[in-house]
Amino acid sequence: GSDWDKAEFVLEELRRQCDTPADLLYRLVEDMVEEMKAGLAKEGGSKDYKMILTYVDKLPSGKERGHFYALDLGGTNFRVLRVSFGQDGSTPVFQEVSIPQEIMLGQHEELFDYIAGKLAEFVSKEDSSYHPRPGCKRELGFTFSFPIKQTSIDSGELIKWTKGFAVEGTAGKDVVQALNEAMERRGLDMVVTALVNDTVGTLAVASLAASKADAGDEVMISVILGTGTNACYVESIDAIPKWKGPKPSSGNMIISMEWGGFSSSLLPRTQYDEALDAVSVNPGEQIFEKLLSGMYLGDIVRRVLLRLAEEAALFGPSVPPNLLIPCILGTPHVSCMHQDKSSDLQEVGRILSNVLGIHETSLELRKLVVEVCSIIAKRAARLAGAGIVGILRKIGRDRSKHDGSSSHRTVVAMDGGLYEHYPLFRAEMKAAVVELLGSEVAENVLIELSKDGSGIGAALLAAAHSKYS
Ligand code: ADP
Ligand code: MG
Repeated sequence: GSDWDKAEFVLEELRRQCDTPADLLYRLVEDMVEEMKAGLAKEGGSKDYKMILTYVDKLPSGKERGHFYALDLGGTNFRVLRVSFGQDGSTPVFQEVSIPQEIMLGQHEELFDYIAGKLAEFVSKEDSSYHPRPGCKRELGFTFSFPIKQTSIDSGELIKWTKGFAVEGTAGKDVVQALNEAMERRGLDMVVTALVNDTVGTLAVASLAASKADAGDEVMISVILGTGTNACYVESIDAIPKWKGPKPSSGNMIISMEWGGFSSSLLPRTQYDEALDAVSVNPGEQIFEKLLSGMYLGDIVRRVLLRLAEEAALFGPSVPPNLLIPCILGTPHVSCMHQDKSSDLQEVGRILSNVLGIHETSLELRKLVVEVCSIIAKRAARLAGAGIVGILRKIGRDRSKHDGSSSHRTVVAMDGGLYEHYPLFRAEMKAAVVELLGSEVAENVLIELSKDGSGIGAALLAAAHSKYS
């Protein structure tokens, strides 16, 4: 029969190893700030944070006009969209395309030819009112949510693939040039005018909203919690020794941290995390991301359940075969089980049965599964909260102002499926931020969902950097 003592031992160990008390988070925040400074000091200055110069030094003004396109590549799907600015009530037109596994793990040119083909398909459906003027091309904001070394607003080299992509031959190449060339091969009259990542797009959309609301709130940070995770923020150019160009008139530059690369011996990692990392496409890398992003949370939970099956025979005398299948349990399953409000935990029972092939579970067992989900999600959410506080500290917005200077509220713009669709995760993350900042300071930090930066935000930045205006 099941060995509940052993199960309780495994669970107790998990609780202890995943614990994230405030003093631990404070030490992580300090580590993070040091790494941020090191990454800003010189190229490669931090082994953790790339602190990428985005070449975006101003955010949208709200005066953008015309039709612009965006291509959002950064996860399991890519999207193409057209946005018309300056026309009230016009809604963006979208098309979502999934990326076949063989393309994600395939060859460089195949990937870009595939994308160019889908873009061509999209514009072939447009009527003539959207055709560009003679001598002009359609302008595209390219959201490329992988670490790149940007060299201007419309060029940048891939540093490395993340999030399950392992396309051969792209690392070190200019992804804008690759896409422009593929579009030319297709005879498509489109050109990339802005290369951004989803965090920068999110910042753009949120800034536009804040400027329209006119409440003086300052959008300084954006964080994506989706398949992967990253953050960007508005840094003072004087705090970026590695910037060698002219000083932008705004005095600022948006920095994409690539915060998923953070790693520290202080991070609360377990044997499950280590095993997951070891079989990932990028072992030893993106350690922070592997603790908290949507691509991984489900599989961490699966690994805990597998150990409970193997060592405590919790799901019967033999190990349910589905528990051995990597990634069979997704983060949406985790959030669904964690947030099951029915008294008999029906959703938990349904997912255990439908997804893992574990039928007829007792309420006691379902409760234990919920607790596993809760421990893994809470650790993730609190680490994300610590990451936000790290940025707030770096830009001096982690304390109250006693010098009488204007105290605008700081907006942290959030996006990504994990944040959007997992209310308990959001609540834990915000609670951690309040705990670390104190309630008085936290009142001036607004953590807000800001949707579709990777789409509309990219089109906005393409408009802001139009070659024809
Ligand atoms: P991407 O990061 O690929 O651009 P999204 O921002 O939409 O895309 O995030 C998708 C991720 O969000 C998925 O990988 C999944 O892990 C997570 N997610 C989606 N739905 C939920 C949900 N209901 N609960 C928790 N996480 C979810
Ligand atoms: Mg995304």
